[in-house]
Amino acid sequence: MFIQVAIDVPLPTLFDYRCPEATGEDIGRRVRVPFGRKRVVGVILALLDQTPIDAAKVRVAGEILRDMPAVPPDVLQVMQFCSDYYHHPIGEVVLSALPSRFRKTPELTDRVRLSVEVTAAGRAALLAGLRRSPSLEQVLARISTAGVLSAERVAALPPSERRALKRLLERGWVSETLRAAEHLIDEASDSVDSTKPELTQEQRASVEAMLAAPPGFKTWLLHGITGSGKTEVYLRAMETALETNGQVLFLVPEIGLTPQLESRIRIRFAGHELVTLHSNLAAGQRAANWQAAHSGRARIVLGTRSAIFAPLPRLALIVVDEEHDASFKQIEGMKYSARDLAVWRGHQRGIPVILGSATPSLESYQAALSGRYRILRLTQRANDAPMPRIHMVAVNGPAASNGLASQLLDAIRARVQNREQVLVFINRRGYAPVLVCSACAWAPSCHRCSARLVLHKARSRMVCHHCGHAMPVPVACASCGNVDLHPLGYGTQRVETTLRQALPDARILRVDRDTTQSRDAWPQMRNLIEKGEVDVLVGTQLLSKGHDFPGLGLVCVLNADQSLYSTDFRASEQLFAQLTQVAGRAGRGRIPGEVLIQTQFPSHPLYRAVQEHDYDGFARVLLDERAQAGFPPFVHQAVLRAEGTSMEQALNFLRDAAQLAQACAHEVEVFDPAPAVMERLKGKERAQLLVQARARSQLHAFLDRWAQQLASARAYGARWAIDVDPLSI
Ligand code: ADP
Ligand code: ZN
Ligand code: ZN
Repeated sequence: MFIQVAIDVPLPTLFDYRCPEATGEDIGRRVRVPFGRKRVVGVILALLDQTPIDAAKVRVAGEILRDMPAVPPDVLQVMQFCSDYYHHPIGEVVLSALPSRFRKTPELTDRVRLSVEVTAAGRAALLAGLRRSPSLEQVLARISTAGVLSAERVAALPPSERRALKRLLERGWVSETLRAAEHLIDEASDSVDSTKPELTQEQRASVEAMLAAPPGFKTWLLHGITGSGKTEVYLRAMETALETNGQVLFLVPEIGLTPQLESRIRIRFAGHELVTLHSNLAAGQRAANWQAAHSGRARIVLGTRSAIFAPLPRLALIVVDEEHDASFKQIEGMKYSARDLAVWRGHQRGIPVILGSATPSLESYQAALSGRYRILRLTQRANDAPMPRIHMVAVNGPAASNGLASQLLDAIRARVQNREQVLVFINRRGYAPVLVCSACAWAPSCHRCSARLVLHKARSRMVCHHCGHAMPVPVACASCGNVDLHPLGYGTQRVETTLRQALPDARILRVDRDTTQSRDAWPQMRNLIEKGEVDVLVGTQLLSKGHDFPGLGLVCVLNADQSLYSTDFRASEQLFAQLTQVAGRAGRGRIPGEVLIQTQFPSHPLYRAVQEHDYDGFARVLLDERAQAGFPPFVHQAVLRAEGTSMEQALNFLRDAAQLAQACAHEVEVFDPAPAVMERLKGKERAQLLVQARARSQLHAFLDRWAQQLASARAYGARWAIDVDPLSI
């Protein structure tokens, strides 16, 4: 008689409606319902015989939308867990985890977002001839000639032809298709080896360990140095899963960055359909890929973090590549960790999960040390390339002349003369992070954030890297009127300028978020790099992850010291990972690799560990420190974050929240409310309150009670949210 519906509103509850037509089959289906004065689309989560709500007040649901398949029960369960564990409203979890298409009511296809092809009926019609509607015939013939008309070309059709296309779709002469990905294989296949290599001894040991394990849930931590061939181990595990008719979910931090991985999987498993799921897909394509996964037709789903919610009826294996990567944690809106949910889902479905990395997160590493995860090690590079040699280049003062020590410039010059490629890594875009008055030290800062504006000389703008606010470069100091303003520090643009002056003949390419904004920019750049038409790459962390550029001999790292000053307790872990990843780009082909790290602290233990490729030793030191200081993974944390138009609003709310916490906290440590590290962000004042406990269960028992009280606490105009297992505090 009644249905319980998840609706996209920030309330921790479901909504009851009268709906006599609903059956058990409709659980997980979308339904149109009245909500306030609006009509919205929600998802049916349960059927009820009766509702505690006053019968007169229960509203009648609209139509149940059966055009798309229902969200299966196990996915609804993941969503429910996500809502409970991360204390995020269930309606928002359900609707934000589904492709955006599902949030809207289906309108007739006036905007085709997919590629299209001619159906059998369409071919028959074309043969018979369409004398009475030449415009339809023309469009139909065009699609027929093209085979598949890609979504981009469909979008570019003039309005008259789009109207014709709409009628062709309505008549069933043309249908939407997923057959567009094929050209991707052709494009990449010449650079990707399709043969199955003989496994190295370590790879074989890893594969055999997994094969020998009893079926069922198990988490494997594949710790393999850069270039050790982790991908080949994933591929063999996938082969086993696919052979038994299973589906594989493969999660990566970012998809566009390393298309070699996608091509390698596609080519190895050419007989199985692969779909991708990520936020750069057009809405229609994403919905279609979701359905392909749901129907079981797609055997491999390659996706970014949100793909953890994909429906996979025959899921047999989950792989999380680069599991340490921070982008598996969503930090806005629903704050969840796709890596952690992957392990949960593996447990739920009784299947193996492989977490792979050269620098595992300390959480995962500790889980392996304690025996919760099984560790698999690859300690040698797969193709016999030696590990790059790493040297410290000591400099005095924060920046050597022009940002690069002469030793670095000499080394770069020598490599370029030798026709090798060089990567100069600096994790800061723009020209200089500060523009400062030489007389009074005034520096322009963002009025919406507690942050300095970064000088972008190429665009002649000062830009806030936190909110995007931009303004012209000031001609004089706003405080004392002095016209002598100096750029201080270095970003990618300034390093590029220095290199162009020092190496006038070298072909230099800058790769950062500013130069890769358009969709095609990065593929084109990668093409240039692969063809050897670039000598020196200057770039940010976009260049540190997962690439395999065989011509790259030398990596120079600038400005790593900055992270040594960070107050964040995870800064060392992250810096070690980043340096190891970027160093791992060097010498992957036949050229022996070398890495030069420019630093004021050449004997810092962190750099020593990087130099010695000693992840294990360094991880143990960090874990000891964390155990002594009482930091994760030895405690479990949650942060209550609040923001308002004034700091007082945020702190008032948090003070009340801390009092409530004291009252219901058993074995949970409640810290004092404090302003956030970035006190001001996008015009909002921010503060936070940390709570932590030794045991996860203690923390969650507490959070359950506390969150309920917070829901009815006075907010003072502040907005708040709980961040469970925060990545930064
Ligand atoms: P990782 O992801 O561990 O950094 P990759 O999977 O990218 O390493 O492999 C590094 C290189 O070694 C690739 O070029 C890959 O083709 C090659 N490779 C991997 N396994 C083998 C093997 N068993 N024999 C020969 N080459 C291999
Ligand atoms: Zn001044
Ligand atoms: Zn700003």
